[in-house]
Amino acid sequence: MEEVETKKPKKTTTSSSRNCSTCNQRRAALKRPKTLEQICRECFYSVFEEEIHRVIVDNQLFKPGERVAIGASGGKDSTVLAYVLSELNRRHNYGLDLFLLSIDEGITGYRDDSLETVKRNEVQYGLPLKVVSYKDLYGWTMDDIVKIIGLKNNCTFCGVFRRQALDRGATLLKVDKLATGHNADDMAETILLNILRGDIARLGRCTSITTGEDGPIPRCKPFKYTYEKEIVIYPCLYVPLRIYSPNAYRGFAREFIKDLERIRPRAILDIIKSGENFRISTSTKMPEQGTCERCGYISSQKWCKACVLLDGLNRGLPKLGIGRTKGNDGHPKEKPINGTKNMQSKPCGTLDF
Ligand code: SF4
Repeated sequence: MEEVETKKPKKTTTSSSRNCSTCNQRRAALKRPKTLEQICRECFYSVFEEEIHRVIVDNQLFKPGERVAIGASGGKDSTVLAYVLSELNRRHNYGLDLFLLSIDEGITGYRDDSLETVKRNEVQYGLPLKVVSYKDLYGWTMDDIVKIIGLKNNCTFCGVFRRQALDRGATLLKVDKLATGHNADDMAETILLNILRGDIARLGRCTSITTGEDGPIPRCKPFKYTYEKEIVIYPCLYVPLRIYSPNAYRGFAREFIKDLERIRPRAILDIIKSGENFRISTSTKMPEQGTCERCGYISSQKWCKACVLLDGLNRGLPKLGIGRTKGNDGHPKEKPINGTKNMQSKPCGTLDF
């Protein structure tokens, strides 16, 4: 695996004069954030990879012969996922055809570097790469959109477009599944956010390790139980800079999860377990899935979110469909299209990439 800037271990990973609690032979090199065990580097790599292998096997994430795209953003999670999946595929003969799938949002200075990382991964891991761009798919780059919409609701556009772009890229690659680098921390944050928002529909499905089985391409999360801190410790690359600021609400949830983790490392797994154990009342009305009348993508409304947003952009009404009820200048509000819902801003962390 590529030797690039590795984050320096902090307090939780201080070296010790004790022996490794796993092999009891080598000197412990770090304290595992997930279990607080003192462990040597070799055993850490081994348990890290083995735990992911067990998650894949126990949840039957893949079948032999499947074509699987790895959503590759160039960030630490997807880079480690690409490496670990290609290793496990070889080591355990999963029989998978793996591909890297990247999205170019058209954000100057953001994707340029991370796409370079993905291109290096393509060579290092020998995985074919497909890059799909917002410009090609929608006729707009995020830079163009930000010029019009500003920095307040840009993540709504970016997130909605990215989700569809991944599906479209996966369709072009003719893959059976899409694997994303969502980790246990992401999962715990999402559960908490859905509870805080009272979003029963999302709460019901956000803990599933595989989603979208009734949609065009199912998505799975092999890192569902993998701690972010361990992904950082595992030799990995840099974390790309996000030029446009992510939404603050998720930031609070993230901080809260980190605080809980400091007090009780198991808290992340506990939240996931609690989320998994939620049972949605059968009398709760759930949105019905249909298809967008415009593009044919799955949608519970007349038009999918991407088509609503795109229509607004193309008609010079960029705030259409993003929940604005009052213009900043006090001018009349833009009304959502009939049969479509308004949306709230959702940054990249919530967006399955
Ligand atoms: Fe897109 Fe994430 Fe940047 Fe928002 S923060 S514009 S979702 S890349």
